[in-house]
Amino acid sequence: MTEFALDLNDDQKAVKEWIHGFAADVMRPAAAEWDEREETPWPIIQEAAKIGLYSLDFYAQQFFDPTGLGIPMTMEELFWGDAGIGLSIVGTGLAAVGVMANGTEEQIGTWIPQMYGDADDVKVAGFCSSEPDAGSDVASMRTRAVYDEAKDEWVLNGTKTWVTNGGIANVHVVVAVVDPELGSKGHASFIVPPRTPGLSQGQKFLKHGIRASHTAEVVLDDVRVPGSCLLGGKEKLDERLARARERAASGGERVKNAAMATFEASRPAVGAMAVGTARAAYEVALDYARTREQFGRPIIDNQGVAFQLADMRTRIDAARLLVWRASWMATTGKSFEAAEGSMSKLYASEVAKSVTAQAIQILGGNGYTREYPVERMHRDAAIYTIFEGTSEIQRLVISRTVSGMPIR
Ligand SMILES: Cc1cc2nc3c(=O)[nH]c(=O)nc-3n(C[C@H](O)[C@H](O)[C@H](O)COP(=O)(O)OP(=O)(O)OC[C@H]3O[C@@H](n4cnc5c(N)ncnc54)[C@H](O)[C@@H]3O)c2cc1C
Repeated sequence: MTEFALDLNDDQKAVKEWIHGFAADVMRPAAAEWDEREETPWPIIQEAAKIGLYSLDFYAQQFFDPTGLGIPMTMEELFWGDAGIGLSIVGTGLAAVGVMANGTEEQIGTWIPQMYGDADDVKVAGFCSSEPDAGSDVASMRTRAVYDEAKDEWVLNGTKTWVTNGGIANVHVVVAVVDPELGSKGHASFIVPPRTPGLSQGQKFLKHGIRASHTAEVVLDDVRVPGSCLLGGKEKLDERLARARERAASGGERVKNAAMATFEASRPAVGAMAVGTARAAYEVALDYARTREQFGRPIIDNQGVAFQLADMRTRIDAARLLVWRASWMATTGKSFEAAEGSMSKLYASEVAKSVTAQAIQILGGNGYTREYPVERMHRDAAIYTIFEGTSEIQRLVISRTVSGMPIR
């Protein structure tokens, strides 16, 4: 088993430097423009694809890095560059992971390449789970998938919301109810292939932050997909449903929720995004505090400013340590006895929100304007405590895990 290490190896250092170069030279200079335009930055995604930074190969390589640090390192550098553009680049990964986690080899080989497209014709993908009445409470999902045995097709109906890349995606992964009696155990995931009739984009949301990332409703109106689009296949689904029904009938001894384990493994990646945004704002504030003079000296000469920077840096480093620990645990198969994945996401996202607010304060009036990037970073940071499970849900998961109470 790979020991936990705080030093990046030479390969990782080289990759980090490479991503940092892209973040500094391509993403940063474009960040304000795409934030204002509030549109998907296709040319930047294309630039990333040209150098291999937007590709299945690259993410698979980082995902399977045995130290567990490949993904957090990648996320931190990209989101240091810009959170909105960063999410436009990594949003496809959420759908790809959905297929990798539940799909067959054939499904992985067929659909993931179509999610990314190629450098001359880049594509994106969307993962559709949330619904207007099923946000934190995923089990109350209503989108239905009904099997039409005669045609070997699944028919999907419902409305998904808050979908990153929703409606503009080439491939959508949709979570739907196949057995309403079984709550979240009765859900299954489906591929909706490109140009499938019945799938349309609902409203596009105008957002507070990460405005370069497209977020929209996805409406499913009698969407028919072939049987082969059920992730994992029908046989596996039938077995899983039969087991869940048996457990429900026998009063149900609880089994560890597989979805919960997946969340624990994926949440540190969001924590790493938050660390990237926090570090970016901290660096701007540090630089400003050194050079801005008031009362005849740099403002960092005041303890009131210097100590804020000391706290900001300390909390960012602490957040990164939690993120790296959880990513290492996920990669090396350690069980999350204290919901360490949720811990890392909770702490890093709260740190990003407060550090970016402190950065605005240190920049004074300039911090409050769009001339400087910290106001955008503060707006961007607000998403981290909301998506992939709100801070309250992370606290719920952590407290129930450490106390042994069941997590629904
Ligand atoms: C920009 C953006 C992108 C997104 N991308 C995707 C995506 O690609 N795919 C996707 O499926 N979803 C996506 N989401 C959805 C996101 O995961 C949900 O917004 C999130 O899970 C919260 O759900 P909700 O918005 O319905 O809030 P609600 O669940 O209604 O929560 C409202 C408030 O109540 C609190 N609350 C709820 N239940 C409890 C409880 N039991 N105890 C204490 N407090 C509680 C919450 O913490 C929150 O503060 C995205 C959201 C945003 C904003």
